[in-house]
Amino acid sequence: MQVLLSQPSLLKSHSYINGEWVTAVSGKTFPITNPSNGEHIIDVADLGADETTQAVEAAEKAQKEWQGRTAKERATLLRRWNQLILDNQDDLAKLMTLEQGKPLAESKGEVLYGASFIDWFADEARRLNGDVIPTFAKDKRILTIKQAIGVVAAITPWNFPIAMITRKAGPALAAGCAIVIKPSDETPLCALALAELAHQAGIPAGVLNVVVGKDAKAIGGVLTGNPIVRKLSFTGSTPVGKLLLSQCAQTVKRTSMELGGNAPFIVFDDADLDAAVEGAIASKYRNAGQTCVCANRILVQDSVYDAFAAKLAARVATFKTGDGFVEGVNIGPLINQAAINKVEELVQGAISQGAKVLIGGSAAKGVGSQFFEPTILTNVTDDMAIFSNEIFGPVAPLFRFKTEDEAVAMANNTPFGLASYFYSQNIARIWRVSEALEYGMVGINEGIISTEVAPFGGVKESGSGREGSQYGIDEYVEIKYMCIGGL
Ligand code: ADP
Repeated sequence: MQVLLSQPSLLKSHSYINGEWVTAVSGKTFPITNPSNGEHIIDVADLGADETTQAVEAAEKAQKEWQGRTAKERATLLRRWNQLILDNQDDLAKLMTLEQGKPLAESKGEVLYGASFIDWFADEARRLNGDVIPTFAKDKRILTIKQAIGVVAAITPWNFPIAMITRKAGPALAAGCAIVIKPSDETPLCALALAELAHQAGIPAGVLNVVVGKDAKAIGGVLTGNPIVRKLSFTGSTPVGKLLLSQCAQTVKRTSMELGGNAPFIVFDDADLDAAVEGAIASKYRNAGQTCVCANRILVQDSVYDAFAAKLAARVATFKTGDGFVEGVNIGPLINQAAINKVEELVQGAISQGAKVLIGGSAAKGVGSQFFEPTILTNVTDDMAIFSNEIFGPVAPLFRFKTEDEAVAMANNTPFGLASYFYSQNIARIWRVSEALEYGMVGINEGIISTEVAPFGGVKESGSGREGSQYGIDEYVEIKYMCIGGL
């Protein structure tokens, strides 16, 4: 590996179960490579169903003791974990750029963003208040308490290798749950480094486990099938989410699903166009377009369409594509060759139906094989596949609309409902459009909406449940109602 870490013990090749670093029973390993240049980073242990069952059983034992601790004790350990993540932020960012490819500055941003969930939920642990409800009968009293749901499974994707884990582990541990995490096999190194820091923080054995393996089906089969697991929190694609939901039905698990998006980004004629361009850039091109809240369809009102396109193109022309470790690079590689192929197909499909390339348009040359040029397409229409598919690449298709009603109808014309954005200076329109958009989140004159203090989540086929905010911990507790009679 060419990148030096200040704390070399953060680079792990084994999984973390019951406080121990373990190899696969089969002895199998698989390689982790750098998406920027295909270079081999390390071989990691390739665990499967048996080891996942062990992790679930260890979590069950540990959870009982963990739940019995005071909220303050749990919060103290979470704060220590948070502090260790902050202390090691440079190493974690390097690991992230190495295995995931995003520019180092973005990796640093994600480490801080990821840590913020642990900090936030350390506080929330102490506010899991119950209620005393006014009674319905003179000799009875009604109370509720909130209790940890039990053992939680988390299945997470590669695009945010730290934040998608801390968003789940933070509230789960704060509430008194134990967790078994299956990170993406594209980016297990960040997950394992987080486990190492949890270990150093003194999080007890079995409370947090990370199972790494290539056979997602086998590991997922245990996590969704084992009755000990009471809750699955999943972030990933909608097809896999649907499959996991159906698997969880057998044991009636609670689920949180953060699935795909198809975010509209609407620019009205009364928008501050320069602000809209900056918002579109932040929302579209972050992580090379590989986020579920990335602007996927940019809808621009007829009278400002050409001006917006020109301003956007002028900014995109200044982008630098390349290895995320190189100073000034703001577009890194896509995660794998399949991602490049998919983006190419969507772009070519649109071009063959009449879309025009304003800038970019193909795989980048002169860098590695997994880079796509930052691209803007104009003359894009809603009958093209790019309208209804999540692009997950640095491609901005510009659609044209005439009226507000048309824009809202286009925006809502999708089974997805995660993030949406629009730019307008008209307060009446801001209310109207915000209420009309069938989305879990709306960015108004704002292209970046993710923060630990706000509820993140989608509607329709983008999923269910909310992560972050005062509501995030509710996903990890059950409300118990107690009726005291005979008073
Ligand atoms: P992405 O397109 O972001 O890779 P996926 O839904 O394919 O989205 O992957 C998200 C996570 O789900 C990853 O950790 C992946 O390994 C896991 N996964 C994929 N298929 C399955 C499955 N059949 N069972 C359990 N986990 C799965």
